Amino acid sequence: MNILLVEDETRIADFVARGLKGDGFAVTHAPDGETALEFLKDNSFDVVILDLMLPGISGQDVCRKMRAKNDHTPVLMLSALDETDDRVQGLNVGADDYLPKPFDFDELIARLRALDRRNSRYMADVGESGHILECGRIRFNQESFIVTVDGRAVDLSDKEREMLLMFMLNSQKVLARERILNSVWGADSDPLTNVIDVYVGRLRKKLTLTKDELKNIRGVGYRFSVENDTDFPKI
Ligand code: CA
Repeated sequence: MNILLVEDETRIADFVARGLKGDGFAVTHAPDGETALEFLKDNSFDVVILDLMLPGISGQDVCRKMRAKNDHTPVLMLSALDETDDRVQGLNVGADDYLPKPFDFDELIARLRALDRRNSRYMADVGESGHILECGRIRFNQESFIVTVDGRAVDLSDKEREMLLMFMLNSQKVLARERILNSVWGADSDPLTNVIDVYVGRLRKKLTLTKDELKNIRGVGYRFSVENDTDFPKI
């Protein structure tokens, strides 16, 4: 597995890089966000380990810039601040997982493998079906990852896209919170997190969905149902 390690503290960077290499990973180290974005421009990585507090461009901004450029490499965010706010904030800018410092090295390895597995499976699913999903005015191109509403492209983060894909594949069905959480954020997610509600809010806003179209089924989860018969132009 090919890892980009973005960490400004030499001591931690050396420790993590040495450990990862010892486990057979290839590691490229970037000491700041600018260098990381340079590396990402020309190289492909399986996972990016991204420290939150960096000199210059912050980890959050690196992640935001990656997603804005349609770079969907899984991001594991590292931070000394173990607070729910930071976790949700990290996930909001498109990070896929979050690990508070100090962390157990075995846990880091386990999370990296899980992210890589999830990404490979997702890419394989997309490759197999390789077509356009359509629910009413919303279209999801599984090859280009472009999502349009009424023919207009909508900018979604990695997680928002993953969540939307899950809703579209299960249109008209009630999806349990646990299922969404497990599928999009992984089996070890905190069941009490409000991250699903945060993301539902963002999807409603970005896709101009009504509360009925992406409906909260109290105590259970959410149901996505968008009418299919529209006269909106298609692209
Ligand atoms: Ca740092």
